[in-house]
Amino acid sequence: MRAAVLSEFHAPLDVRDDVEIAEPGPGEVLVRIAASGICGSDLKAVDGKSPVVRELPAILGHESAGVVERVGEGVTGAAAGDRVVIAMTGNCGRCESCRRGAYGGCRSPIRMSQLGRMRDGTTRLRVDGQPAYPFIGIGSFAEYAVVNEEMLVRVPDTLPLEQACLLACGVVTGVGAVLNTAQVEPGSSVLVVGAGGVGLNVLQGAVLAGAARIVVADVNPAKLALAEDFGATDTLVSGDDLTEQVAKLLDGGVDYAFDATGVPGVLAKAFAATRDGGTTVMVGSPPNEPISIPPQQLFFNRTLKGCAGGGGLPARDLPKLVDLAAAGRLDLGRLITTTVALDDINTTIAEVRAGSVARAVVTF
Ligand SMILES: [Zn+2]
Ligand SMILES: [Zn+2]
Repeated sequence: MRAAVLSEFHAPLDVRDDVEIAEPGPGEVLVRIAASGICGSDLKAVDGKSPVVRELPAILGHESAGVVERVGEGVTGAAAGDRVVIAMTGNCGRCESCRRGAYGGCRSPIRMSQLGRMRDGTTRLRVDGQPAYPFIGIGSFAEYAVVNEEMLVRVPDTLPLEQACLLACGVVTGVGAVLNTAQVEPGSSVLVVGAGGVGLNVLQGAVLAGAARIVVADVNPAKLALAEDFGATDTLVSGDDLTEQVAKLLDGGVDYAFDATGVPGVLAKAFAATRDGGTTVMVGSPPNEPISIPPQQLFFNRTLKGCAGGGGLPARDLPKLVDLAAAGRLDLGRLITTTVALDDINTTIAEVRAGSVARAVVTF
């Protein structure tokens, strides 16, 4: 099959048509990929900075949707022809952690997908006869992917797959940060720093939560008009004076701040922009560098939270997001700046790095 292969860090992906994919094993499903968004985490993997890409070659891509081609032995929740989104995490549902709803603690073998392996510890992909590893157990910059049944969520015919794929990472992360991690209440004031693929979905989550003021900041003024279309009540060009600019808009600061930039130093500025008792959420996966927070700011009952994959369980939360999108309550179409062919993936990755696109989607 055709797939974009990461053979070497810091190098372009190698688009080849001789990547081998095996039949799905027990509890596994072969999905024909229809669309896969290009996310910041893919770029981190190219740069050798992803904690879950330990072995090469790897097939990147993890924000995807497609159609079930074949199912492995014992699969009951999916059938050939099903239109599906592939969640980044599926859990066993049976271990002590899953029963308590503490999905992050699930250590069942299916969680080996996070490290690019199936539950038996092997991989279904081969490049030049050697094992290749699917990013987060998905590897959707490819015509097909073999994934665990637990990761699949059905999509109605009315929702285009090139839009549905965005639910799997950018949307579940951004909206989940608001609804699961921060639990924003109606009437709140919210700051979103970064108006890219994730930040716009934090914004959509804030609208769903009924926030009264939604301030969106980005270093690129060109991105702010789109943020206004998505429901920002105030926008500002982010810089060293981010905290002061927010203080001018909302005396005393915001109730909730979300840093969707992953840029070192921005989180501390967002934290300083919250009111006494306010909450700051670090959305997504930043570089592994220390955060500097003045203790006196923290002392006044402020909270700082992390948020992996939207703070919930993607495979549990995605059906709700599918329903919201199908009902027109989430705007997916306007998140897509461009759709491209797999052959153009390296050019598009360069454009994503330049920060000029909200989301670029590879379609097959
Ligand atoms: Zn992602
Ligand atoms: Zn479990």
